[in-house]
Amino acid sequence: MPSMTAKQILLSLIIVCCCLTFATAQQSHYKVYAIGFARSGYPFMEADWAAGASKAKHLDITFSIWLIKGDKGRNILVDAGFYNDTKEAKEFQLTEYTRPDSALRKLNVKPEDITDIIISHPHWDHIDGIDLFPKAHFWMQKEDYNYFVGQAWQTPKDTGGFIERNVRKLLELNLNGRLTLINGDNKEIMPGIRVFTGSKHTYASQYTLVNTGTNRIILASDNVWIYANIVQMLPPVSGGTLSPTGYINAMKRMKSMVSDIRYIIPGHDGKVFQKFIEASHNIVEIK
Ligand SMILES: [Zn+2]
Repeated sequence: MPSMTAKQILLSLIIVCCCLTFATAQQSHYKVYAIGFARSGYPFMEADWAAGASKAKHLDITFSIWLIKGDKGRNILVDAGFYNDTKEAKEFQLTEYTRPDSALRKLNVKPEDITDIIISHPHWDHIDGIDLFPKAHFWMQKEDYNYFVGQAWQTPKDTGGFIERNVRKLLELNLNGRLTLINGDNKEIMPGIRVFTGSKHTYASQYTLVNTGTNRIILASDNVWIYANIVQMLPPVSGGTLSPTGYINAMKRMKSMVSDIRYIIPGHDGKVFQKFIEASHNIVEIK
């Protein structure tokens, strides 16, 4: 093979540089926020949520949505929160409730600015607010959707945590072409944003891995209910998963995806709001 001339080498280097510059420009950058919009006034202990955890440690149960703010005008939510008019919401003796769309305004994000919503699972506290965001496109696991709108309502019913009106809201989104059903585990659904299954919090619940451009963050939602689950590697109490082994294995997998356990954000633990820098009242930036 003839050796390359200086001119050819220079040309090759220029091509490599151009490719690298292009790749860097393509990389999306994200800021990630946890937005607490309600707390439970009920005196929960850790053992009420994580099987085998402390019966003496009080637990501040919070309800959150998570904002992934892109640098190219994309504003993605993980979960949509809920209205506080249902019996399910009232059972939690809510304090400090702010409707999720109003809570977002504290970050200068309007409901119509939300471009996408990733639904981790269809329990009322994560899906009831889907009609608050008029322009959003929705992303949900196909198997979770099928079970939620179908089998769950057959006899014998298996509808714990499900609310009928949310089935209707979700069907409406699908009829209007605003829902994408994701077919299984480990799927990149947007640049730098990948979803995973296996925890079986619901039939096919999913968690979200965000590559922010500088870090990797997992928005676990209820695939890690509280810190005691992930720190002590404990499954949730009965009703928290269809597969305790699957839940534990998923948490092991999550730990392998991030540089520090700090970047795995549980669904309902109020300590999230003490671990990170406050961006506004009950809102922290995860970084
Ligand atoms: Zn929940």
